[in-house]
Amino acid sequence: MSSDISVIEEPSGIAVHEAAHAVIHAVGGGNFRYVTLRPRLAGRSGHVYGVVNAGPAAILAGPLAKAIWEGAEGFLTHMIEQGGCDDIELFFEVVALGEEGEWIERSGELVIKHWDEILMVARMLERRRTLTALQVRAILTELSKETA
Ligand SMILES: [Zn+2]
Repeated sequence: MSSDISVIEEPSGIAVHEAAHAVIHAVGGGNFRYVTLRPRLAGRSGHVYGVVNAGPAAILAGPLAKAIWEGAEGFLTHMIEQGGCDDIELFFEVVALGEEGEWIERSGELVIKHWDEILMVARMLERRRTLTALQVRAILTELSKETA
């Protein structure tokens, strides 16, 4: 991994959103094939393909990270008010009734814990537009070596 990542301008909210899904899938026991800012889906500007074992925390990580990145206070309200968010709908489908709060908290903790990784993946995503799960894991490994 080259050091020229540092010259890239700040990533977009979409890149942060997709990077957060990818990173939290990777660290949370889930997997995916690739993450892209060029999805072949109408009306979408980013997507994670081939997700396996999507946990509620990883599903929520995208909108949560984007809200944090954009400085949205009270991000849950913000997310719900935004409406039309597939992630939020999916989240409420997969969590057991009454456990929503716990998962929102857990997802928030994971996003904050892995914030540097999320931003690094988002920057690489802006540059390359598509990253495989392997490439995302390589970035995480590289970062953990630097901070060790
Ligand atoms: Zn999403």
